[in-house]
Amino acid sequence: MRAMSRPTIDHRGPEFQEMTYQLLEEMQLIFRTEHPVLIYPSSATGAWEAAITNALSPGDSVLVFNQGFFTEKWAQVAERFGLHVQFKPWESRRGLTADAVMEVLHSDVARSVKAILVVHNETSTGVTSDVEAIGNELRESGHPALLLVDAVSSLGTTDFQHDEWGVDVTVSGSQKGLMLPPGLSFVALSPRALAASESARLPHSYWSWRDHLEFNKRGFFPYTPATNLFFGLNEALSMLREEGLPTVLERHARLAGATRAAVSAWGLEGYALEPSESSNALTAVMMPNGLDADEVRRIVLEQSNMSLGTGLGKLRGRIFRIGHLGDLNTLSLIGTIAGVEMGLASARVPVSLEGVSAAMAFLMNESEAE
Ligand SMILES: *Cc1c(COP(=O)(O)O)cnc(C)c1O
Repeated sequence: MRAMSRPTIDHRGPEFQEMTYQLLEEMQLIFRTEHPVLIYPSSATGAWEAAITNALSPGDSVLVFNQGFFTEKWAQVAERFGLHVQFKPWESRRGLTADAVMEVLHSDVARSVKAILVVHNETSTGVTSDVEAIGNELRESGHPALLLVDAVSSLGTTDFQHDEWGVDVTVSGSQKGLMLPPGLSFVALSPRALAASESARLPHSYWSWRDHLEFNKRGFFPYTPATNLFFGLNEALSMLREEGLPTVLERHARLAGATRAAVSAWGLEGYALEPSESSNALTAVMMPNGLDADEVRRIVLEQSNMSLGTGLGKLRGRIFRIGHLGDLNTLSLIGTIAGVEMGLASARVPVSLEGVSAAMAFLMNESEAE
């Protein structure tokens, strides 16, 4: 916040130009890519639209599995642009598997599927999918579909490798693992995605990759960028660099493990069925039947001035979500869990009040193991 509270500079001047070069280079390290990363002054939803309109043409088929709320929303963007969306059911408590994707693609002998849309970390369910396996199997199969991945809540919280995993377009945003206020979005592109954009015919103007690439080469943007958020991004990236990305990811895994320990000690169920697929960014907690998760959220907000995530879409009232991403350490997490535990007790949810000590025990064992 302090980094951002300084006078806005000329976005056509030399100081800005130098900052652009540095930011774009450092964003490549975060996405683990050697190819271009673009920055938009928009929410991540805008970057979804950028991915679709730059890479695809009217009537193209795209494959989407219903991993949860954000997948539905992204599919809706594709649909609104007149794409033919093959929307497949999926058990949203499990991560999407490469097998499921490949089963559809193997039967697609006409190669009509032009792109697959996958959400790496479904923030609405707290379930992470194995994008590495999906990317590898897609490449091995020789099917030409582009792999479009939403890494909005996984970037900076969960291992993600744009190049190594064969992802064509990765979409992300500023307000999750990058610890910034909302307002910036990102796309990382592959050479295949860039080639596809040369012949793609969906209309786009504000989102044009070509315009951005053209201006970025010279350290500038095709229109006024969100300059002060860039100051913040600069600082966020230097915080990540100081801690070291691998350490940042380990910290998220440890805090997520401690949260899961608390959830089981309460006697509640996490939404993710497999602990190995449970998100590093947040934990979704199921309410016992008949009890309202939003009532717990209301009490926690009133009692501890702490906001828990609501259940989105079909999960409203059935789950609440504990966020543990970004600039968070063990003490803040223990405080968070204490706040949830008090709220559960006040809401008369039948739980055993042992979550805080279970989380502490988890963290102490983890540090001994190191
Ligand atoms: C937050 C989020 C989005 C939406 O981002 P906006 O900035 O609100 O547009 C999309 N996908 C996932 C997985 C998210 O967590």
